[in-house]
Amino acid sequence: MSIPQTFIQELLTRADVVEIVGRYVQLKKGGANFMGLCPFHGEKSPSFSVSPAKQFYHCFGCGKKWQRHQLFDGPRGHDICRGG
Ligand SMILES: [Zn+2]
Repeated sequence: MSIPQTFIQELLTRADVVEIVGRYVQLKKGGANFMGLCPFHGEKSPSFSVSPAKQFYHCFGCGKKWQRHQLFDGPRGHDICRGG
C-alpha cells in the first residue's frame, strides 16, 4: 500500500483528519463528508468517506475505518505500532 507509516502518526498528532488524509487521497466534498479513492485497496469509484465533523474515515469498499476516539479507547493502538 502507498500509505506510509507516518500516516497514522500524523493522524494521532494533527488536528484534522481531512487535512491529513487529503495529502494522500484526493478528496471531494459531498454533503457533510468528503469522498475519495480508498488508499487501502484499489478502486476506481470513490467509496472512501472522511468526516471532518466526526473525525473519522470509513471505506465502504474494504471496511477500513478509523476514528479519533479509538485512541483513548483501549489497546487497539498497540496494533498500529506493530510493524507488518
Ligand atoms: Zn478501501
